[in-house]
Amino acid sequence: MIRPALSVVVPCYNEAACLDVLHARISAVAKAVVGDDHEIVLVNDGSRDQSWAVMERLAAADPRLVAINLSRNHGHQLALTAGLDLCAGERILIIDADLQDPPELLADMIATMEAESADVVYAVRRKREGETFFKKLTAAAFYRVLDRVTDTPIPLDTGDFRLMSRRALDALLSLPEQARFIRGMVAWVGFRQVPFPYDRDERLAGESKYPLGKMIRFALDAVTGFSTAPLRLASHMGLVLTGLSLLLFAYIAIGWISGSAVQGWTSTMLVVVFLGAVQMFVLGMIGEYLGRLYVESKRRPLYLVADVAGPVKGRASLGYRAGDRGDVTVSPVLPEQQ
Ligand code: UDP
Ligand code: MG
Repeated sequence: MIRPALSVVVPCYNEAACLDVLHARISAVAKAVVGDDHEIVLVNDGSRDQSWAVMERLAAADPRLVAINLSRNHGHQLALTAGLDLCAGERILIIDADLQDPPELLADMIATMEAESADVVYAVRRKREGETFFKKLTAAAFYRVLDRVTDTPIPLDTGDFRLMSRRALDALLSLPEQARFIRGMVAWVGFRQVPFPYDRDERLAGESKYPLGKMIRFALDAVTGFSTAPLRLASHMGLVLTGLSLLLFAYIAIGWISGSAVQGWTSTMLVVVFLGAVQMFVLGMIGEYLGRLYVESKRRPLYLVADVAGPVKGRASLGYRAGDRGDVTVSPVLPEQQ
């Protein structure tokens, strides 16, 4: 396989308004840094706007652009996985479509990679422009809680914006899980990883595609994917509650001896409701793991490709077995098969 020096991989969901500027800026930067020896891989994650039409137009005009149309919206992390599977570069830049992460940093990221002999240069957000206080607060809290509970050290305030070497990417692609928290999986892979501080810009156009519900799901994938600590919650809480009930027992015994036994309804209800809540919470946590275990056990493909525009050079073009996890998934319309 002929590998381009650089692949730029971009997951896109309803980003039609960003794509022209995105393509122009990435092309300019890539040309300046590695010349023509690059590819840009745009993944359309089941957008409901004109994104795919724009991608086809761009691909027709630029031989270095590969556009992949997924069969439906598979979600950010799976769309990114599709792009990573189908890219072929020696080095891979992952970037969002909304240009919050400036592609112009590529030159410095490559310089850092070379100077530090690193396999991964991950961009760490110093400032986040134009994002709500709520988003910044929840993101900051999330990364800190995650850091406390996970067994793999996952860098703080780091998104998917990063430059990777081929061997680090191949290692990442060998992880088969369905619930993908890619920034954590990259951290897990190891090799030499170095931070790269930057200031995050505002979205070029459109709205964030991460409403609260998706953010919570993403956070749960992160925690359950990298920690089993919540499963131990039941035993920890059990221990604490045993201690408390001993105190309560002593209190009741004293009341009984001193003849002022039967007392109010309030304290009984409080204990009942509290214990009920704790049990439900713990049960819910176990359910989160069980549900993921169930989903993984089905071994469904991670994503399905509907159409491709442009020359795909990555793994999928080499032939693969449908449904073979860890390999690329079904794609009825890859170039050779058309
Ligand atoms: N995205 C995607 N599929 C989705 C949601 C988002 O491919 O279901 C893409 C989106 O187009 C963008 C990136 O994931 O390129 C990050 O999304 P966004 O910028 O909305 O997230 P935020 O920066 O607000 O966290
Ligand atoms: Mg964004």
